[in-house]
Amino acid sequence: STISPFLDPGPLTTPGALALVHLSRDNVVPVYLREGSGTVDGYSEGAVINTRFGSFPHSTLIGQPWGSQIRASIVDTGSRGRKKRKLGDVVATGAAATAVDDATGNDTEAVNSSTSHTRDVVKTAATGFIHVLPPTPEIWTSSLPHRTQVVYTPDYSYILHRIRARPGAQIIEAGSGSGSFTHAAARAVYSGYPKGPGDKRGKVWSFEFNHDRFLKMREEVEDHRLSRIVQVTHRDVYHDGFLVHSDDDDDDASPEAECVFLDVPAPWQALPHLSRRKPAPSLLASGGLEPLNSKKETSDWKSPLRADRAVHICTFSPCIEQVTKTVETMRRLGWMDIEMVEVAQRRINVLREKVGLNMPLERGTNQSPRNVDEAITRLKQIDGRFKEFYRDKRDVDVSMDDVDAEDGSDKGQAANGNVNGVVKGDVNAADTNTNTSGASTLKPWMAGRLVHRTEAEIKTHTSYLVFAVLPQEWSEEQEAAAFEKWPCGK
Ligand code: SAM
Repeated sequence: STISPFLDPGPLTTPGALALVHLSRDNVVPVYLREGSGTVDGYSEGAVINTRFGSFPHSTLIGQPWGSQIRASIVDTGSRGRKKRKLGDVVATGAAATAVDDATGNDTEAVNSSTSHTRDVVKTAATGFIHVLPPTPEIWTSSLPHRTQVVYTPDYSYILHRIRARPGAQIIEAGSGSGSFTHAAARAVYSGYPKGPGDKRGKVWSFEFNHDRFLKMREEVEDHRLSRIVQVTHRDVYHDGFLVHSDDDDDDASPEAECVFLDVPAPWQALPHLSRRKPAPSLLASGGLEPLNSKKETSDWKSPLRADRAVHICTFSPCIEQVTKTVETMRRLGWMDIEMVEVAQRRINVLREKVGLNMPLERGTNQSPRNVDEAITRLKQIDGRFKEFYRDKRDVDVSMDDVDAEDGSDKGQAANGNVNGVVKGDVNAADTNTNTSGASTLKPWMAGRLVHRTEAEIKTHTSYLVFAVLPQEWSEEQEAAAFEKWPCGK
């Protein structure tokens, strides 16, 4: 298939597919699924993902519906000695699984720990599970190899909305960096094949001046089958602007963009090129900070912008000084509706407090439940105490200190003070089912107080987003043509 897996991954995982293997919420690893060359214990041996959750031969991940949970396999790891690893293999490093990096081969520690493991153990035990997820821009952002600081989902989803990225749109992006924004932009503008004359394929025109990053980005775009939608150009946009190489023409062509996203350190230096008219030499020489003093149109200059539409831009800068300079230059260049926004995303973890099955069965004893019946008895005891505690307290605030301090006694449940987490809803009704005889049958997954923890800090690095619009300019010809089309024109 020529369509990118980011746009349509198909229903099942296939050999050669890019899978994003979800080990835990903060640990997703990109893996190309490969069919192995041989078979051990019924599994193909060629490629195995070894993690602290167990071993996962690629063959167990192939032919599965995307999103499937895959159980660890018992894999022969010792009898044939250490195998050479390839990109996509994941090896255990104790605390976390790490993808082998083909560029650096920098997994020495990981390989070592895995090697000693493979020497000693002939068969690894099947322990946990992973999920095999299809590539999407969002999951790619949390698993991609970082070459630079990246734009995260909360920012790029808002940015793409504000710059009006939509199917068929042409977006200029600089710099490409690690391609996080690029993937989201590609999906936003994807419009399928042109349906008729004048119907343009949506495209991301991405610019990067660092040569290594440019090469890596171009390779990634090809690997992800996004070449029809993303064109990466090696260019210093401060000096050389945003025109692109054209196959049909010796001259550079205009992307005719109507959306622009600048994630470069000095957006004001790139702005003079994003004009409808040739920028004055003094404006270029001053890095966008001199007054605009030339309005002459010259025939040897092409604008990278679409002529017959307003252009929407966003610049992304971590410091307020960068914002000030950007806004100043935008004003000089005729940008309007200039506005700055900061996306301050916070993750709120909503969870049920652990019930504590390892707590003593009876008060004053050290005995933990030894079987299912005892565990159920324990759950009922806990449920009973919850009811006792919450009888007169509905929608109460519960201190997370209390939750954290839970030590197996009832202290934590009895205390109620500082506000950090909130119990939502009625514990008696929501957390238990009462059968006809009045006895409570607690559902284990519903057990425990519902609390939330807010992250202390905002972890996604947010920058200041400056938005602006460059209005369409009307020529006399356009005015005349519009008048012709207008129903009441004649
Ligand atoms: N938005 C990207 C992402 O989401 O992965 C990250 C961009 S990164 C912060 C900034 C990139 O801009 C770097 O890769 C840098 O090499 C590139 N860059 C800086 N100045 C540039 C210039 N004048 N022309 C083109 N690229 C430039």
